[in-house]
Amino acid sequence: MTMLRVDLVRLEREGVLRVEGAINPYDPLFEESGMRFASPLHVRIEATIAGSGEVVIRGSVQASLVQECRRCLVELNSPFDTELTLVFAPADELGEDPAGDLYPLGASATELDLRGPIREELVLTAPSYAFCQEDCRGLCSGCGTNLNEENCQCSGEDADPHWDVLRTLGSE
Ligand SMILES: [Zn+2]
Ligand SMILES: [Zn+2]
Repeated sequence: MTMLRVDLVRLEREGVLRVEGAINPYDPLFEESGMRFASPLHVRIEATIAGSGEVVIRGSVQASLVQECRRCLVELNSPFDTELTLVFAPADELGEDPAGDLYPLGASATELDLRGPIREELVLTAPSYAFCQEDCRGLCSGCGTNLNEENCQCSGEDADPHWDVLRTLGSE
């Protein structure tokens, strides 16, 4: 897989650098991130140098998130594309960054590894839950049956309100 690195010496010389690469979905990078991916993440960025010495990275990440439906817990692959802006600033400027939006740029660094910052941005922007369909009926709280697939014999509070409507109509 392509390394997601920005060669700072080349960037200094050329002014703009485009980097395209992929991150393995099983990369240890994502351990404990709460995110799982179904296929390699495609990253496309453009690096430039701002007047004041910051390195500005703009680009996009295309990924396929593996998530569980919040109601019925079925596993889903949801396409997840996000735009990205990362700013790497010299260490002495980081003190003026109360929001913590800047990434440190080492004084003698010759390259930037984008994978860690990309992971952080994904953690911030990835949707934390998904639904398999808009009107997912979820699991029966009584017996655990996936109500999208079949009805169960449980009754009471968890009964489907659609049936109440039919019953009401029938009794009129
Ligand atoms: Zn569902
Ligand atoms: Zn049930």
